[in-house]
Amino acid sequence: MAGAVTEKRLLIGGEWLETGEWLDVRSPYSSELVARVASGGGGEARRAVDAAERAMRDPLPAHKRAEVLVRVAGLLGRRHEEVARLICAEAGKPMKAARVEARRAMSTYTMAAVEARKLAGEMIPMDATQAGEGKLAFTLRLPVGIVGAITPFNFPLNLPAHKLAPALAAGCAVVLKPAAQTPLSALLLAELAGEAGLPHGWLNVVVGPASEIGEQLVEDTRVRAISFTGSGSVGWQLAKRAFRKRVLLELGNATPVIVEADADLDTAAEKLAQNAFSFAGQSCISVQRIYVQRGVYSVFLERFLPLVEALVVGDPADEETDVGPVIDDDARSRLLDWIDEARREGATILAGGEAVGGLLGPTVIGDARPELKVSREEVFGPVCTITAYESLGEAIELANGTRYGLQAGIFTASLEGALAAARRLEFGGVTINEAPSFRADQMPYGGVKDSGNTREGPAYAVRALTEERIVVIEA
Ligand code: NAP
Repeated sequence: MAGAVTEKRLLIGGEWLETGEWLDVRSPYSSELVARVASGGGGEARRAVDAAERAMRDPLPAHKRAEVLVRVAGLLGRRHEEVARLICAEAGKPMKAARVEARRAMSTYTMAAVEARKLAGEMIPMDATQAGEGKLAFTLRLPVGIVGAITPFNFPLNLPAHKLAPALAAGCAVVLKPAAQTPLSALLLAELAGEAGLPHGWLNVVVGPASEIGEQLVEDTRVRAISFTGSGSVGWQLAKRAFRKRVLLELGNATPVIVEADADLDTAAEKLAQNAFSFAGQSCISVQRIYVQRGVYSVFLERFLPLVEALVVGDPADEETDVGPVIDDDARSRLLDWIDEARREGATILAGGEAVGGLLGPTVIGDARPELKVSREEVFGPVCTITAYESLGEAIELANGTRYGLQAGIFTASLEGALAAARRLEFGGVTINEAPSFRADQMPYGGVKDSGNTREGPAYAVRALTEERIVVIEA
């Protein structure tokens, strides 16, 4: 029944627009049509920048920005069930995880509202040098300008939230391009922002061909910052092309975790079984490489594998499901190829390794050499490796043996070992006795090496989206 299909439009300058072109959003689980979305290209992106420019001519005071942000958080709370179901439908994210994401987006907006109210410059101690004597000076923190935001499919609500809420807190208007596979949660956020009283033009959402929209955001000199979350191949290209802009990159990881012999093995096994496979491993900090001290390797496996095998694989809409589908057939084929490569190269498949009914089961690979793709590249699927090591030094070296550096973790009872790992692991974040997939939304979150060049979390993103202007007074 064609009439029953939900249709969503683009948001430009406060108007919800059709373009004549439609993009289908399908369930990654059943392939059923979830909705169709008006698709726009470079022209729509340019009009969105025009609208953002008009909006920024009339700046919003901090208290109004904070009020809008708080109201969006409230609306997300009131519509929690609907929001979680939408994430589940478009991303194939199991309801358990979709609910967590929906709650986290409330925190993101709430913390951004706090930052909006705190935004201030600082006094400069001018008489600290001879040159400054007799002068008074302070800085203003001003919005960097229009922000182009680009987000991936895997957190379709909370990653747009991490762009939109801090940008508004900083006083910047945004043109958002969400992932083509999952644009619906972002469009819902835009709807909620309107309901919360955000004036027209401050938030514009354009869905459509990525390269065309990206080109407009890169080439348009009015766009002063591009905030990108996604794969390194796209992100670093954008940074290269938009070299005159501030380009903030949040990219991938091949997340390692070390389990020392003195660790609480039950806790480690439980947390790692959950965090290697939740949302089918499609989180940028999904546990991928587990290094276990040789003395406890077999004991750890005895505890870990039954927990992995007990995970419920199935329909993401079922409340019991832990592991749903990966985003599409291409992702599944790539993962099966990488598992085959590991098999061929002598690794042992300790669990899973196959797709059943289109769903890839949680897969644990032992004896995977460091050169294999599963050990080196970002898996981004329900696959982890498990490797024995002798000393902590060796484990840290193995963990660092990747081009990525987003988050890493260690389980140990030794304070000394934990702090050594915190100092020597080359990552943006290190968790101790917690899975490295942990994130609270106010934390500074971001990577080193190929994993990115910035930190998100409202306080840090607001800093990145504002400029300091010095004001000097002869006094
Ligand atoms: P992706 O393919 O890089 O896509 C991300 C976004 O970039 C999408 O909106 C995509 O649009 C857009 N895009 C693609 N080509 C573009 C171009 N030439 N110009 C401008 N935009 C372009 O990434 P993904 O597969 O959706 O997401 C998975 C990746 O994101 C993983 O590497 C994961 O680790 C990373 N990630 C990082 C974080 C973090 O915070 N560090 C969080 C989550 C995910 P279309 O959808 O229209 O192609």
